[in-house]
Amino acid sequence: MDPTPLHQLSAPERARRFGAIRLLATDVDGTLTKGNGLDPEVVAQIARLCARGIEVVPVSGRPAGEVQGLVRYLPGVRRGIAENGQVEVVPDRPVRWLAEASDRPAIHALALEIGADAGLELRITADDRFRVGDVAFERDGASDAALAALIPATRARDLFLTWSNVHIHFTTISPDKGAALLSAAGVDGHEIATIGDAPNDAGLFVAGRFGATIGTADVLRQRAVMPAMPEFVTESTESEGFLELARLLLGAQP
Ligand SMILES: [Mg+2]
Repeated sequence: MDPTPLHQLSAPERARRFGAIRLLATDVDGTLTKGNGLDPEVVAQIARLCARGIEVVPVSGRPAGEVQGLVRYLPGVRRGIAENGQVEVVPDRPVRWLAEASDRPAIHALALEIGADAGLELRITADDRFRVGDVAFERDGASDAALAALIPATRARDLFLTWSNVHIHFTTISPDKGAALLSAAGVDGHEIATIGDAPNDAGLFVAGRFGATIGTADVLRQRAVMPAMPEFVTESTESEGFLELARLLLGAQP
């Protein structure tokens, strides 16, 4: 079933579904960004949400090191989850593992084999040095279909594969941003709203976990490769979709 467009919700439905939300978990790339950069209007809305008592928690596939910088500078934000749920990041504290520590060199070697067998020359991400558990490669324009075709070989090597609009991730455990968020949030899942744009956000969309799950409009064209779809979808793509949700949340609070 296709997700319900957020803009179709009546005011009473908005208040009922979003009035009790206390935490907004948000993907970063493709969700808070427009093109390659953080949308300045997103920064302003995050400050408003936090001032209204809705904690905003970035949940990213980016490295612990980059998420630390993001959390430090986003107004009102205190913590984040990095590397698709593997670690929690609070500035100036040691990262907290939310999953088992991984053998990065071993995963890296297997991933290169999988790529080579498929005729892909995988290129390690430029931000690899800031990762503590995740092994990721530049997407370099690879299509959803080309990446989905790698899944059988990945599973045959006891690895898992997911991807965002920018990176391809290989892991020894099934990547699950949603499970990590639930273990770290400190509030009930029903008080959490989630938003993301790509297959690596699927754990944030699993039915029954959260009070509301929202995809930017980008999820619609990727539905064939999404392990789970959100309940709601924004009208717009990328950060314009996030801003649509932020306005709704601010308007739905009692
Ligand atoms: Mg994304």
